[in-house]
Amino acid sequence: MSNCVFCSIISGDIPSEKIYEDEHTLAFLDINPVNPGHTLVVPKKHSENLYDIETTDWMQMMQTVKLLAPKIKKAVEADGINIEMNNEKAAGQIIFHSHVHIVPRTFDDGLRHWPGAPYKGEGARDTAEKIRALL
Ligand code: 5GP
Ligand code: ZN
Repeated sequence: MSNCVFCSIISGDIPSEKIYEDEHTLAFLDINPVNPGHTLVVPKKHSENLYDIETTDWMQMMQTVKLLAPKIKKAVEADGINIEMNNEKAAGQIIFHSHVHIVPRTFDDGLRHWPGAPYKGEGARDTAEKIRALL
């Protein structure tokens, strides 16, 4: 897709530090990493995010994530790995080509778990009911 940074990386028009490629997916280092080894896995076929990605592209992307995550962890001697996908602006998505972040983590990297707040009253049941009603 024209005007898509990641399509341009896939086509080679924008350079990247590629670490893996197969018929359906590409993985390259994030230009602005949370920690060294922070990798983006993308399907070669353009989709914006979780909502429009085809299931086969999703599965292939996940297969690549599973293949690479332990290798990346070992290569950068990380203590753990976050797997993350941002969907839509409100969730922090800035590049609208589906991608999954593989983020190596260390005990001393200074990042914190996201803050949580317990449900109040019947909040958990009401929320679960709203979700179940759509399934
Ligand atoms: P998002 O917030 O959309 O999930 O994350 C997009 C990621 O793409 C960001 O972490 C950003 O650093 C990375 N990124 C944006 N432009 C480029 C680029 O041109 N090359 C590479 N390698 N990464 C990029
Ligand atoms: Zn694209």
